[in-house]
Amino acid sequence: MSDIETAVWWARGDLRVHDNYALTHAARASELLPVYVFDPEGYGEREYGGPESFAFEKTGTHRARFVAESVRDLRRSLRDAGSDLAVAHEDSARAIARLADAVDADVVYCERYPTPEEQATRERVRAALPEGTRLETRWGSTLYHPDDLPMAVDDVPDTFTPFRQDVEHAPDCEPRDPLDEPTLPGVPTALADGDLDAGALPAPSDLGVADASDWSAVAPTDERAVLPFDGGESRGIERVREYVWQRDRLRQYKETRNGLLGADYSSKFSPWLNHGCLSPRYVHREVEAYERERVANDSTYWLGFELRWRDFFQFQFAKHGSQHFRREGIRERDDIAWTGSDRLLDAWERGETGVPFVDANMRELNATGFMSNRGRQNVASFLANNCRVDWRRGAAYFERTLVDYDPAANYGNWAYQSQVGNDSRDSYFNVVKQAKRYDADADYVKRWCPELDALPPEYAHEPWAMTPSEQDAHGVVLGEDYPEPVINLGASYEKLR
Ligand SMILES: Cc1cc2nc3c(=O)[nH]c(=O)nc-3n(C[C@H](O)[C@H](O)[C@H](O)COP(=O)(O)OP(=O)(O)OC[C@H]3O[C@@H](n4cnc5c(N)ncnc54)[C@H](O)[C@@H]3O)c2cc1C
Repeated sequence: MSDIETAVWWARGDLRVHDNYALTHAARASELLPVYVFDPEGYGEREYGGPESFAFEKTGTHRARFVAESVRDLRRSLRDAGSDLAVAHEDSARAIARLADAVDADVVYCERYPTPEEQATRERVRAALPEGTRLETRWGSTLYHPDDLPMAVDDVPDTFTPFRQDVEHAPDCEPRDPLDEPTLPGVPTALADGDLDAGALPAPSDLGVADASDWSAVAPTDERAVLPFDGGESRGIERVREYVWQRDRLRQYKETRNGLLGADYSSKFSPWLNHGCLSPRYVHREVEAYERERVANDSTYWLGFELRWRDFFQFQFAKHGSQHFRREGIRERDDIAWTGSDRLLDAWERGETGVPFVDANMRELNATGFMSNRGRQNVASFLANNCRVDWRRGAAYFERTLVDYDPAANYGNWAYQSQVGNDSRDSYFNVVKQAKRYDADADYVKRWCPELDALPPEYAHEPWAMTPSEQDAHGVVLGEDYPEPVINLGASYEKLR
């Protein structure tokens, strides 16, 4: 038992009760006020600074809906446990300071993140707190705790393989056991007595993400979606049970993970992991249990391998900070001529580039907020390497649109694909080859580009290879039924060689 009278738990990207370091520490106080803030900073149009700055929208409907549902789910769990969740739609510093003052808090606990924007917000909150209230942070979003790594965070290797090998082989480097759900103390009297209002969840129109008063109105309705992606800890845990235990898909994850169609080719844990509805240590413990009870094989190892990729990017951002968001990246590449145009970016965003594998993936992203890893690698490589559009603009579009957006995973992977990040090889994807390999029958491309349905697979992937009479014969005329390619792909690969 601690001697803290009143604590505030400021929930951020850790929207869960299980295995939560900040909440568990805060719950040792005699009374606790859990809070979530919808900060207007996170919504609406922002300027991406640096050379050739541009405007982009920070959060689209997919992610906003997922977060709102996660907050609603968290409030329900906290209420079931005898606590509550205060919700504010206000500047974070103002909201936390106001609420800390209202309950006369001794301490505010929150999770600690490696990325600059999240750190800047935290410091603004710290500076705004009333006298006598301190801010305490706890790390909790990665599989490995930074204190358990075999190297200091500043010495984390800049390429993945040595990082992974060091982590896997160091004798004392193990993911920590997940924490039990804490017993929650009661809420402060001000909230219990009704002097302080717990606040309502903002509507999509309040956040400016859609002209709707209800979140259900903005849920994706496209039946081609791989999963509904309902936000919240309850659904996150259910997805683990479903994927690992009920459907028994973990045993073949390594063989299926490059798939494109369906709910189960990969785990789809990312939205829940990145909004903190799922703890990576909880997932790891479930994988270990599965290995004991069912099978331990390359696939069960590989899910952990991918979670180490996730950690790698988090620690990279802890090491390099804002350098990762710069166009030159951590490799300081000022030799790439970013000559691409707004026209190319626009066609890419809409899924109208005339390159079916790119278009199908972008259309899936727009309609559902999700895209497979194979798809992400290809559309990113196409935009940055073939079109030479400034990679940050593609990454910013992903930031807006992905339901599982995470700053380190997104900008880290984009920089990697764009050859300015954590890769020592200058590699790029041949999107047509990739399409033929991973979508041999063109089922995926045809699902999202139904106008190509009548084409045999080789033409569905390369419609520009058809002669005008073949186009007529198949009823797919380029420039009318489906776009002409926005770039000459062959020539763009020549330049990259
Ligand atoms: C250009 C680009 C942008 C990306 N942006 C994001 C992003 O914003 N958020 C995000 O979570 N992932 C991002 N990824 C990584 C990866 O595509 C997704 O994590 C994965 O597709 C999510 O699906 P899943 O949960 O079914 O993955 P699985 O294949 O089931 O993998 C399990 C988990 O491992 C982690 N993981 C797997 N691959 C990666 C990777 N390359 N980098 C980091 N973590 C990984 C994820 O947490 C994932 O949930 C991006 C990849 C690329 C190429």
